[in-house]
Amino acid sequence: MISRMQFMALALLGLASASPNILDSLRGQTITAVLGGLDLTAEAACACKLLLNSYSDMILFPTSANYTAETKLFWDIRSDLSPACIFQPDKADEVADGIKILSGCDAQFAVRGGGHMNYPGSNNIDGGVLITLNKLNSYKVENDTIDVGPGMTWYDVYAALDPHGRIAIGGRLKTIGVPGLTLIGGVHYFINKYGFAMDNVVSYDIVLGNGTQVTANDTTNQDLFWALKGGANNFGLVTKFTLKTYSIPLISTTIQTFNESGIYDLVKATCDLASLDDADPIAAGSIITIQYNATTKAASGSILGVQEGISNPPSQFANFSAIPGPIKLNNVTTLKQWGSDKVTPNQMFRVMFSHKTIVPDADRLYSIYQAWRAAVDQIADVQGLYPTFVMNTVAAGAARVGQTNGIGNVWGLKVEPTIWWQFSTGWDLAQDDLRVTAWSRQLTEHLHGINRKLGLARDHIYMGDAGEWQDPFASFPEANVERMRAIRSAYDPSGTFSRLNWGGFKLGF
Ligand SMILES: Cc1cc2nc3c(=O)[nH]c(=O)nc-3n(C[C@H](O)[C@H](O)[C@H](O)COP(=O)(O)OP(=O)(O)OC[C@H]3O[C@@H](n4cnc5c(N)ncnc54)[C@H](O)[C@@H]3O)c2cc1C
Repeated sequence: MISRMQFMALALLGLASASPNILDSLRGQTITAVLGGLDLTAEAACACKLLLNSYSDMILFPTSANYTAETKLFWDIRSDLSPACIFQPDKADEVADGIKILSGCDAQFAVRGGGHMNYPGSNNIDGGVLITLNKLNSYKVENDTIDVGPGMTWYDVYAALDPHGRIAIGGRLKTIGVPGLTLIGGVHYFINKYGFAMDNVVSYDIVLGNGTQVTANDTTNQDLFWALKGGANNFGLVTKFTLKTYSIPLISTTIQTFNESGIYDLVKATCDLASLDDADPIAAGSIITIQYNATTKAASGSILGVQEGISNPPSQFANFSAIPGPIKLNNVTTLKQWGSDKVTPNQMFRVMFSHKTIVPDADRLYSIYQAWRAAVDQIADVQGLYPTFVMNTVAAGAARVGQTNGIGNVWGLKVEPTIWWQFSTGWDLAQDDLRVTAWSRQLTEHLHGINRKLGLARDHIYMGDAGEWQDPFASFPEANVERMRAIRSAYDPSGTFSRLNWGGFKLGF
């Protein structure tokens, strides 16, 4: 008796060896029978079959032993979808061949790096082909750069650089993927001095929609080089990032928590941190959050602060240290060591992000916190509710790097301090998806509307903090968006990375 897996493979082989005319006649139709219940288009069947032919040891089907484990390597439970097959290349040439197959079959596909983008469909797909990049994880440390494969996490990068006493500008937590974060901008602790992750990429190797491999840097394909600095997954699949590195062997860190009575002062200190703008800045940044428990009605705040060098306690966080609070832990360590326990486990929650930008104004930010807290009470019955208010400080220096480095980025941010405020809301059940999304969206838009009237709002929306209901591209300068669209037409004329790889934040048609 043939196994289900063998049956599927045979069915795929049978389908894809049919004449092109038969395939053409099936295009767009769902062939439910082919995979014993899993909806599958002829295009996906064609791609899975051809990938199986060429890369039988790199392809998984729903009945393969490791398929289910792979479909769980996503941060948000909502991203747990059912691809028709999973392609796991370990070389750029295989990626290029895979993209040729996908575009030749006109098959829809998704790409997963670190799997942290909580926008369902951005990094996984039902019934299409999922390309996972885990195996593209090689790296090469040079004098002041590192070549990084898109299968690496930021912890992998910091660990690779640690013996050299150097760091790169990447994610703040351990398990975030290199590719997704770098392509959307990338907020590190040290953006105030070194700019965003995208500003620190000196070269990209990228597979275009027709399977061609090109390099984009400041001498080759300069227009694509610029577009990749914040333009996300609209242009191709990046198989190598070359990142600048900096000699920062030691960092000074602080972990602090605050009781409810300290929250106004926490917000005020956050505004002060965002407003620091010394001519010769000390690189310093943080993760600042406020948690509210709708059952106990208790709120508390926290900061994870990191500064370059060995000042202990770190000088740039003095305003936080002055606020009374239960935990004050200062340390001098390495970025690798600091990151080693900052894990963000997969599949813990369904999560909705919502975010907007404001200039530092402590009274107004505190009002936003109060309004959020009151609104959380209105959905307190949602099972597994896990609401967090996040404040990301973006000092003027962060925008200045892109304005002065001769390359720029697609954001074109004004050189001024801002705070990216964000509601991160976790919950348990699919039945609450629409309710939590509507709640988060309406609350955010309402509060941003007030900020606008007060002249405190800014348009910029960061893809890493936004919900899928938001359109970050609409917040970028119009001329930059038009330029990106022209670059996309030039490098991907048949629309492989918009029509077929349609998930995530896209430039649109
Ligand atoms: C818990 C948590 C913490 C976070 N912390 C930070 C932070 O400190 N700083 C920050 O800036 N952001 C942060 N983010 C946001 C994060 O940067 C984004 O979610 C980012 O997309 C994650 O990258 P990834 O590779 O893990 O994502 P994935 O979900 O794998 O990919 C994101 C998108 O990029 C596409 N993509 C992936 N690889 C490639 C490639 N090689 N070529 C082309 N497209 C590709 C995917 O198809 C997908 O659309 C955080 C998010 C979470 C959930």
